[in-house]
Parts: sequence; structure tokens; C-alpha cells
Amino acid sequence: MTSSSQRPKRTEDIFPEALSGDRAYLVDGDMSRQPCVFYFRKSIGDDFATQVLRCLQYARGAGLRLDTSVGIEGVYYDDDKSGSKDIERPGYDHLMSDVMSGALSGRFIIVRDQDRLSRRESSVLEEYHVITELSKVRTFSSDGREIKDDLTTGIMAVLARSEAKIIGHRQRGRKEFRAIQGMPPASRVKRIGYTRGYTAIDWEEAKMLRRARAKVVAGRSLSGIVKEMKEQGIVKPNGKPYLVADLGRLLRNPAYAGLRVFTRDIEIEGKVIPKGEVVARGEWPRIFTEDEHYEVAAILAKNKSFSADHGPKYLLAGILVCAECGTRMSHGWKPSGKKRKDGSKVVIPNYHCQISRGGCGRVSRSARALESFFLDLTYRAIKRLPVVVEKVVDTTGDEIRRQQRKIDDAVKAFKDDAIDIVTLADIRQDAQAKIASLKKEQKVKPKPLPIDDADAFLNSKDVGKQRDTIRRFFPVVGVKPAGGNGVRFHPDQLVFPEDAK
Ligand SMILES: [Zn+2]
Repeated sequence: MTSSSQRPKRTEDIFPEALSGDRAYLVDGDMSRQPCVFYFRKSIGDDFATQVLRCLQYARGAGLRLDTSVGIEGVYYDDDKSGSKDIERPGYDHLMSDVMSGALSGRFIIVRDQDRLSRRESSVLEEYHVITELSKVRTFSSDGREIKDDLTTGIMAVLARSEAKIIGHRQRGRKEFRAIQGMPPASRVKRIGYTRGYTAIDWEEAKMLRRARAKVVAGRSLSGIVKEMKEQGIVKPNGKPYLVADLGRLLRNPAYAGLRVFTRDIEIEGKVIPKGEVVARGEWPRIFTEDEHYEVAAILAKNKSFSADHGPKYLLAGILVCAECGTRMSHGWKPSGKKRKDGSKVVIPNYHCQISRGGCGRVSRSARALESFFLDLTYRAIKRLPVVVEKVVDTTGDEIRRQQRKIDDAVKAFKDDAIDIVTLADIRQDAQAKIASLKKEQKVKPKPLPIDDADAFLNSKDVGKQRDTIRRFFPVVGVKPAGGNGVRFHPDQLVFPEDAK
């Protein structure tokens, strides 16, 4: 058996060995039989095997032929996805897109039961009926019933839905109850600092958390603490070093002070407690006191966001990678050993392969040398380009977004009963066709450079735009070690991708 996270790539992984003969019978032989395809959806507590078996049996009995020229050898499938939730179903989307494009015209879709298609609101199934009918595709469940816009199908859908709703409601209620009672959050993974299920403290991990907390309170930076931990060989349960973001998240977590929060707004005795706020004192052992928790949380809240997006923009960030290990290079500062008149140390900006980001740490080059080299190289590259007589304004992306919005609006209008299902299907089909052709066009049409004038590029004060322009010529550039201290920067130390010049 493959694990649930791995998608089988070929249908041999879905069809049990024992059924290979039945499958061959459906694929080979009399080609004049009515062609069909299968849709399987594996949900929690279900498997592919019984769906395969039932669909094969039905198709054989009904004298059908499995059309392996469409889908994945005649099959569309989704793993472990619940039809009642609004989550991705790539197999279903693939199926619907083939239905709409006419690729399945005249074919039958076979499912084990109706609820493999959808347990969601009836509009999904209604839309399914309209689209399949327009595209001349018929659907059967393995008991031989045609799934179409009729009373039986409607009743079946209502039954499946209410069943899903009851299950969902029961689970939600149980979770809220656990939270209010101060029971530990149900988690499939072991929380750092505790044994599984918060039953006891994991002393080694708790010691790490307490030390890190004390250092933050003493004014140390998270990155400094993370660096020390790495040097001491303290790693996450998966063996990887702690990152700044990991440590920040851990230290902010109220669970270590035995405080229970809930992931949604929750109503307790008529009072709504917003999600993420403390709903109860927990019953599990605590690693921090409440005061200790609130103290460290307040200090960390004052720090800037740890996300790189908000930091200063560096010209070659995201472009340079370490040629030794492939890690994206970080911008940093290094003391040069020289001192200014006032005694302060001179620091030199650099790009380096950073160990705390999983790199080898072996490559570091002066930022000034690299940046002026790339500015000059890109300047000359723009100069070489033919003069653009008319400035091209590419609006393809905007138009794609506009068409997408049109679909969203139509879905909303349909839900509000402002338009009917046929209109929705029309609008959707029309917009999707336009998006498809726009995307094709987008591939052909070269996008204009963010800055297309060489001198404007050189003199621009907008580092972000300069970087985007450089990136268009040199998306990724490797940087090799210099081969000794004090070796001057030379372009030979760079590795350009084959196709970039
Ligand atoms: Zn490296």
C-alpha cells in the first residue's frame, strides 16, 4: 500500500493485482463497446480497492469498455479528501475540465456511489448535472442507477449531506468541549516539551525552552540563541536545526503555561472568545508560569516580523545561490577588522551561505563587488536589446484576474439566487475558455522589463524593480567559494545557468 500522502502515479498502483484480468477485459477486446471512465475518491476510512472492484464489476456486466485514452488510463481519482470540505480535489477538477472541453463527450462516468462525487451543497451536484448534460456525458453508480437531475439523486444527496453534517457537528462540539474543559489540544504529533498527549514534560526539551525564554528576556536576539543551539547540537525532533521562526512560535505558545486556546471563535456562557485567546486553564503540566509566558510573549510581540518579506530589500536576494550546496544566499554584515577614527568597527556587507538556513556556510562574497558587477552586466544587457518603439503594456495578467473575478461573482450570484444554474455554467465556461487562451497568449508574448531603459535602470532608487530586472536576465546564479582569504571577486567565481548569457 502506498501512504496517503503519496499519489499513485500510474493506475497499476490503484488496481489491485487480483483485478488485473478484469481490467484487461475492459480495456482490450471489442472496441465497439460503450466507452466509460472511472472516478474514485478515497476518503477517511475508505479505500480504492472496493471502489475499483464495484466499478469493474458493473462495467463488465453492462458491457462497457474502459477508455484509457483519457484521464490517467481512463481513471480520475482523489486521495483522502472529504467531499464535505472545501478542499482541493485535483482528480475531480481534471474530470470536470475534460467534461467541459468535450474530451469525454459520449462517454459514461462510473462511480461506486453518488457520494463519491460530492457531499457538499446541492449546487455542486446541480452544476455537475448541467455541465455533464451539456457535454453529453452520463454518470452511473455501480448499482446501475443513473445519477442525473432527478428525485432519487436529490434525496440521496440530502441524505449524504446530513450524514456528513452530523459527523462534522459532533466533531466540532467535542473539540469545543475539550477546550472549555481545559483538556490538552488533540494533536497527532508530539508537542515539543511534552510527551505525546501532554501527559508529561519532556525534560530535555523543556530545559531548552526555559533557557531560550530566559535569554530572550535578558535581551538576546532569537537569531543569536538559534545559532548557539545549533552549535550545541540542539535540533528539532526531525533532526533539523531550529530556525528563528520555529523558536519564536514555540516561545509565544500559551500551551507551555498550561493555557488553552481555541482555533475558532468560541462561545462560553454567552460570551464570545476570539480565536487564539485563552479559553481555559489547562490540566496538563506547565513549563512556564503564566507570568513567564506573558513576559516573553510581550517582548517577542515588540520584535519585527520574522518574515524576510518585510526586511530591507537587497539587490541580489533570491538570485544568488551557493554553488557548493544550492542554498539561497543571505545578505549580511561582516566586521572587516578595520576601525574608524571614533573606534567603531567597519562592517562590510556580504552575501553568504548561511548555516542556520540549512546551508554549508562555505561561501561568502562581498556584496558591493557582486552588486556592481550585476548592475553593469544588466545595464549592458538592456543596451543590447532592440529599441522598443512603442512601450508595450501587458494587460494579460489583469484580464485573467478579471475573468477569474467574473466566475467568482457568478458563483456568488448563483448562491444568492440571482442567476440560475444554466447561466452560471455559461459564464463559467465562457470565462474559463478566455483564461485558457489568455494564458497561451501570455506564454508567447514576452513580458516587458520592469525597467527597460538602461540608464533609468542604473539610476533607479527602487531596489525591488532593479532586482526584478536583473532577475529577468539572470534568474539564478551560483556563487563558488573564492578559494582563499582576501581573493578579489572575479566573474569566474559565478555559475550561470546554461541558457542565460
Ligand atoms: Zn553552501
